[in-house]
Amino acid sequence: MDLNRHDFQLEELIKRIKSHDHRLIALQVPEGLKMQALEMMDEIEDGTSAKVVLAADPCYGACDLVHDKMKMMGVELVAHMGHSQMNIDSGMPTQFIDVTYDGRPEITAVLPILEQHRSIAKERLDEGEIALSTEEAQERFQDAVGRISPLKGTKLGLVGSIQHLHLIFEYKKYLEDAGFEVEVPVGGARLTFPGQVLGCNYSGDDDEIGHYMFLGSGDFHPIGLVLHTGKPLAMLDPYTDEASEMSFERIERILRQRFGLIMSIQDADTFAILIGEKPGQMRRSLALKLKRLLKKHGKKGYLLALEHVGPELIDFYPVDAFVNTACPRIAIDDAVKYGKPLVTPFELEVSLGEKKWETGYQFDEIP
Ligand code: SF4
Repeated sequence: MDLNRHDFQLEELIKRIKSHDHRLIALQVPEGLKMQALEMMDEIEDGTSAKVVLAADPCYGACDLVHDKMKMMGVELVAHMGHSQMNIDSGMPTQFIDVTYDGRPEITAVLPILEQHRSIAKERLDEGEIALSTEEAQERFQDAVGRISPLKGTKLGLVGSIQHLHLIFEYKKYLEDAGFEVEVPVGGARLTFPGQVLGCNYSGDDDEIGHYMFLGSGDFHPIGLVLHTGKPLAMLDPYTDEASEMSFERIERILRQRFGLIMSIQDADTFAILIGEKPGQMRRSLALKLKRLLKKHGKKGYLLALEHVGPELIDFYPVDAFVNTACPRIAIDDAVKYGKPLVTPFELEVSLGEKKWETGYQFDEIP
């Protein structure tokens, strides 16, 4: 990744610090940009009379805003970089700073994948509401997570990660010129921009969309998008200019692992229910609901509140398994790091017989 091709838009922040005459501000940057943090601190201190303290704890999203603890230090403003505002209040004045990347990959490489995925969507649309078994549906790529939900259209849903969203309507035009009917989905309150996706929220999906293209890099968002929507997904990477697709085999492997975890907690009696303390991850009501559910089934649930979740912080508790209500991706992406089964709320409900695996996997979304 060429960090020099990122534009860190600090001008607004510098203006705000000057106009309010702030003396101490906290800078919060995502993990991938921490290498540049000292440079940014210099730029802010050189352009204002404020001092900058870096909030150096890990930060993976706008769910993870610096909150009250920095107030005790005398911080007057938090500058949060590289994520957009979500529907939470951290209790601290916060300025969100856009980071954009200037890479503009050619769409030529991704077109054959998109054409193939459009055919799959058309075939699925033509099937109408014929009931298929899970196996038949999966074989035809009806829905990669086993759901048989009817489609109403075959539009291409165009989404991206935040540093590429300034290009989304430019790419919509390119793809329309190439013959695709394109929708840039608009999600719920947790999402700020059209076409935006988060690792825990793909709420812009609708049944007019038959397949997706993701403008961005890595497989974090693509895995979540397919687990949530079950639809074919092509990826175009602005950092490498390469096109690829999220394979059905990859999703199937993840589902097999999830099912294995559900089976492994069938006889578990004691659970620790993890509650995230980060402002945008806290799902207290869900955790309490799960505790009640466990009680109903004659099992015990202990509530554990944590700011960060990691194996070294929980593995030693004498429980049989963990249920995670903090960032949903902890259970999906990191389960192998834990010594005991770590499942999502949906997976716990399946193990208790409250929900069915056969009707399709339900991605754990934070609305
Ligand atoms: S909860 Fe997890 S996936 Fe959602 S924004 Fe926060 S870190 Fe990202």
